[in-house]
Amino acid sequence: MLVILRPHHLLCLPRFQGEGYSPAFVEHLKRLIDQLVQDGQCIIHFGMDQLCEGCPNNHQGRCVSEEKVQHFDRAVIRLLQLEERLYTCAEIGMLLQQHLTEEQFNGICSSCQWFQRGICGFVVPKKIYKRLF
Ligand code: SF4
Repeated sequence: MLVILRPHHLLCLPRFQGEGYSPAFVEHLKRLIDQLVQDGQCIIHFGMDQLCEGCPNNHQGRCVSEEKVQHFDRAVIRLLQLEERLYTCAEIGMLLQQHLTEEQFNGICSSCQWFQRGICGFVVPKKIYKRLF
């Protein structure tokens, strides 16, 4: 089955550096990325996704930061003009390259805890997956 992703995770996944909400979540995330690399395509869905399925912040199918993450999702949908459908990773890569500037990234992600803790940013030197999208 193809990986299902919510829009703002298109910004998070390529910047993964091995840290996450819990060790189990990190393992889940790695497996998901491996599958994504193998498939070369994913389904964009405007709601909880497969990453959320393994997250300790998922309380009965709802993110504890639902309002905040929906704000991220809406911003990424607008920026990349996303639809709920199947995308190839190459297509997503092209959209990110065309539309995501550092300024846009900072505008969308500045209220995220990983950004504020200095763990994530537009350019991440130690990211594990050099080319995901
Ligand atoms: S449940 Fe919330 S914090 Fe966890 S991966 Fe999903 S959107 Fe992110």
